[in-house]
Amino acid sequence: MRVTSVREMALPLSRYGDVPASSGGLTTSVVAVVTDAMRGGRPVVGYGYGSVGRYAQGGLIRERFAPRLLAMPDLRAEDGGLDPFRAWDAMMAGEKAGGHGERCVAVGTLDMALWDAAAKIAQEPLHRLLSRRLGRDGTATVAVYAGGGYPYPHDDLCRLRDEIRRFRDAGFLRAKIKLGGVGGMAGDLRRVEVASGEMGGAGLLAVDAMNAFGPETAVAAAQALAPLGLWWFEDICDPLDFDTHRRAVIAYGGAVAAGEALFHVTEARLLAEHGGLRSDRDVLVFDPVHCYGLPGYLRIVADLTARGWPRRAFWPHGGHRFAVHVASALGLGGVEVTPEAFAPFRGLGGCDMVDGAVVVPETDGIGFEADETIRLLLSDLSA
Ligand code: MG
Repeated sequence: MRVTSVREMALPLSRYGDVPASSGGLTTSVVAVVTDAMRGGRPVVGYGYGSVGRYAQGGLIRERFAPRLLAMPDLRAEDGGLDPFRAWDAMMAGEKAGGHGERCVAVGTLDMALWDAAAKIAQEPLHRLLSRRLGRDGTATVAVYAGGGYPYPHDDLCRLRDEIRRFRDAGFLRAKIKLGGVGGMAGDLRRVEVASGEMGGAGLLAVDAMNAFGPETAVAAAQALAPLGLWWFEDICDPLDFDTHRRAVIAYGGAVAAGEALFHVTEARLLAEHGGLRSDRDVLVFDPVHCYGLPGYLRIVADLTARGWPRRAFWPHGGHRFAVHVASALGLGGVEVTPEAFAPFRGLGGCDMVDGAVVVPETDGIGFEADETIRLLLSDLSA
């Protein structure tokens, strides 16, 4: 059982459903991991991508991590299938501690594809493979919310209102929008008013400052937002400025979300110890792809649950189907879905939604192929 070939491409992504709108040059890596396992006379291929927000990692994948995978003579698991944990150990061989910023995404991208391949080789959906190998009972549905609401370059409030209305029409019961734009706090409050009005209440709306507030502004922003009763306040300040984060959390009082821009269990531990978070209300948005893939994410979940955090506090960032399987198998609180941003990896990818929860897919692997646009992209990559 081994990897015989790795293909990689950089794919442009846009934060807007209207793709010609500025994407700031954002990209992600898409990979195809070809194995020597055969199904129907063809080799089993696993697919993955680098989630969203961190740019493509082609250099690291091609020059460092794919060669280590290809050099492994055997990646067989105890049950005879593919073992992504052995593959992860091979990819990380010789890597020194620290320096997570880009390589964690490269490793996580390949890890997603390895899990897709492992589940396809086992001929079962990924959530079932994970539940079996991790000794857990998976859930049939996973709670979701619609992530989006990026500031539009023109007609911002009108377009925001329309976007949130489409989320509601599609069946989403909760949504999250971005703050920290050019309009200052007054502009942020107008965006919240418009979006919460469309969603049916501020308690159904989370806001994400994308780390925009600094030591001088974070507390004032928290104080301005505190009376609104939002679902949560996310990514308040620089992810490693734990002192500012702690002061803002105290000023805010309500639920905050953090962890999206932290990539390793040690960073997660520092956040938990020094960031002012409270395990009875706050939300952890670590992205399994950006945290060195599932092996790295499992270490974060294990460390924080041992410190008293409930699994329901974890709501992975990224809007990818991989997180749906992980959340089902691990019993997490829910996942983000991006209904319009980040095409082609947007929306529910062919999954159904019932009462604000996605029905976990039952096709083999992660199930990317259920979306025709993604299927064509991936088949071109592996051809
Ligand atoms: Mg965020």
